[in-house]
Amino acid sequence: MKKNVFALLLALMLVVSSGAMAMTAGTYEAEAQGMMGMVKVAVTVSENAIESVEVVAQNETPGLSDPAIANVPAAIVAAQSLAVDTASGATVTSNAILAAAEAALSAAGADIEALKAAAAVETAEAKTIEITTDVVVLGAGGAGVAAAVEAYDAGAQVVLLEKMGVIGGTTATSQGMVGAYESKYTKEKDVHYTFEEMYGNLMNNASYRLDPALTAITIE
Ligand SMILES: Cc1cc2nc3c(=O)[nH]c(=O)nc-3n(C[C@H](O)[C@H](O)[C@H](O)COP(=O)(O)OP(=O)(O)OC[C@H]3O[C@@H](n4cnc5c(N)ncnc54)[C@H](O)[C@@H]3O)c2cc1C
Repeated sequence: MKKNVFALLLALMLVVSSGAMAMTAGTYEAEAQGMMGMVKVAVTVSENAIESVEVVAQNETPGLSDPAIANVPAAIVAAQSLAVDTASGATVTSNAILAAAEAALSAAGADIEALKAAAAVETAEAKTIEITTDVVVLGAGGAGVAAAVEAYDAGAQVVLLEKMGVIGGTTATSQGMVGAYESKYTKEKDVHYTFEEMYGNLMNNASYRLDPALTAITIE
């Protein structure tokens, strides 16, 4: 049985420039604290426009920070404003880019208050799209991506929906440890744990707030 899927597109925000520009033309660099260190941007301005914003140095988490690095500088230029949206799931990196851009624009003599003022906004009409598919997977973390791949490999048409600006979920931050006891790998290393020790370790890590039945399944 096919399922109908209705995907609601987010309204497109068209930001109109404040027009309050009077800067010294040139390229200005500045940096601000991100999630994993300093984020440096280079902002090039003419006397009356922000010509480009580029992230020139950063050590943010690959993948998670990509939407911020790709979209926030472009949004500042497109809107000629610092009142732009942050990237979903990469708020700290987004805010670092905005703070660094603000410092660079300040050095260029821009009217920061005008650039940060909520700009006039035109909201495009939201669209509803109807898609017919066999399987819908909600959430593109490790479990969702694996489920989608399995369903696809089994011959199903699959739609995988993710609410964030990037796929990966908490899986993207996983340390890569495999919680297993008496597996062939632990035996090879002569490392021995019991079910109770593994169960207690997971529960203790999560301050005993895990679902007992699901935790047991995970370990088994
Ligand atoms: C710092 C850290 C380190 C870790 N290290 C390890 C480790 O070493 N070994 C290990 O085994 N485990 C580790 N874990 C745990 C492991 O990463 C998680 O248990 C696992 O990634 C969960 O996968 P998941 O797909 O169920 O959920 P998630 O990866 O959280 O994915 C859920 C996805 O669903 C999306 N979503 C939620 N609601 C909606 C919605 N309404 N519509 C669309 N999308 C939605 C979310 O945005 C997210 O992308 C670690 C976790 C963290 C946070």
